[in-house]
Amino acid sequence: MSKNRAAATRRDYLAVLQQHRRNFSEPGSDAYWSPELETASRDKIRAIQNAKLEKLSPFLYENSAFYRRRFDATGMIPDDIRRVEDLPKWKPVDKKEMVADLEANPPWGTYTTHDEEIWNSRGWTIFPTSGSTGMARVFRYSKTDLEYWKWANSRALWSLGARPGEKVFLIVGFGPHVWGWGVLHALAHMGIPCIPGGGLTAELRCNFILRYQPTILATLPSQLLRIGHVMRELGHDPAKSSITKLFTGGEPAAGIKATRRRLEDMWDAKVVEFYGCTEASPHSGGFSCSHPVREDGAVQTHLMEDIQVWELCDPENDMSVVAEGSRGITVCTNMNSESSSHLRFVVGDYTTFDTTPCVCGRTHVRAIGGFQGRADDLINLRGIKFYPSVVEEGVRAVDGIGDEYLVTLDTSPDGIDHMRIRVEHVDHAQPDNVVAAVQNAVKSRIEVSVEVDVVAPHTLPKTEMKAKRVDDRRAKQR
Ligand SMILES: [Zn+2]
Repeated sequence: MSKNRAAATRRDYLAVLQQHRRNFSEPGSDAYWSPELETASRDKIRAIQNAKLEKLSPFLYENSAFYRRRFDATGMIPDDIRRVEDLPKWKPVDKKEMVADLEANPPWGTYTTHDEEIWNSRGWTIFPTSGSTGMARVFRYSKTDLEYWKWANSRALWSLGARPGEKVFLIVGFGPHVWGWGVLHALAHMGIPCIPGGGLTAELRCNFILRYQPTILATLPSQLLRIGHVMRELGHDPAKSSITKLFTGGEPAAGIKATRRRLEDMWDAKVVEFYGCTEASPHSGGFSCSHPVREDGAVQTHLMEDIQVWELCDPENDMSVVAEGSRGITVCTNMNSESSSHLRFVVGDYTTFDTTPCVCGRTHVRAIGGFQGRADDLINLRGIKFYPSVVEEGVRAVDGIGDEYLVTLDTSPDGIDHMRIRVEHVDHAQPDNVVAAVQNAVKSRIEVSVEVDVVAPHTLPKTEMKAKRVDDRRAKQR
């Protein structure tokens, strides 16, 4: 790859990102951080996407060996992918392909546009993926990424109601959670104080809330439930605490009705969330607005289209783009990063899209019904496919069930796969009604018969950080 062309295309790409950046340091209005962009007409949004895409393809071709190989292998040149309507020509990039690249080119792979020279002169940080579907992929970022990250996340946080005068209690282990780092940097950028709460016991976290009076509690959904219960045990009512917003990321929550209701009732607070992935970072992809739930009861998540192109594709039909209103998995073309921009990366969550304007006035596409889980997490039990979130919805719909539950998938000696759910309930000594209620709640949602064990409250291990609720011990995996 020519050094001159690499540098020239990088310059052009960063220039077009800069050209379309608005309200970097301060919000443009009380309703929107970047009003001109967030309420732009659909034509204007498309024009911005096309302007960025035209510079993105040559930038990737000249700065990422992974993308160059892909263009060359298909006989395409960067000029072939310069407008949004060209995107379907480009086969979506999935995690497996990145893993293969990483294995062939350790330790960083060639799928990003970050190199040793940037790393040594103006490098910022790295974020690894969890590695749940293969070797962990690591993404290096530059100082420029940090700037764009702060800006995009400030827009998203402003949308979900973070304002000066609030205080955020951020409980996250600052390890691999991109979400937590992004929230931290954006809050500092916005001038909103953040109280870090990682590495504390649940009791201490409750004490922090009572003593320092934060208004937004930001953490994983399982933690929100846990802290609320501990607060009750300490003799305080979470609903009467200073918390008015529950801000989640990292696990589906807002889209699982029964979980959302449980959280809202417990804290008397609104649930808002970020949605995204490490690969298309560094910043949130989706976010709540002042109307996190539509009138019809469906949760809605905004996506930021001037910085990313979002598509829904059908994995059962050669990843063809689905029509608006139909279900598909998320595919993201990221155009807000120097180091980790991508053409059609498969994020992989099922949802549906709506491009009509939201009540909040934003004109960008919304995901309706939330994100029920990554396609990778899909459970296939005797041919019936479902997400763990559907089981959670069923379990939490039953009155009196504790917040912790465990799902075990196992193969019986006669070779049949089955699912067992352990739940906590005060009626554990006479569990028949609870067993029947959980069985019905699950069966009515996924047509699967399950075995249910009812144990005494506080028997199951408490979730400390990210909840791992499914234990797949089956002899033959999917
Ligand atoms: Zn909205």
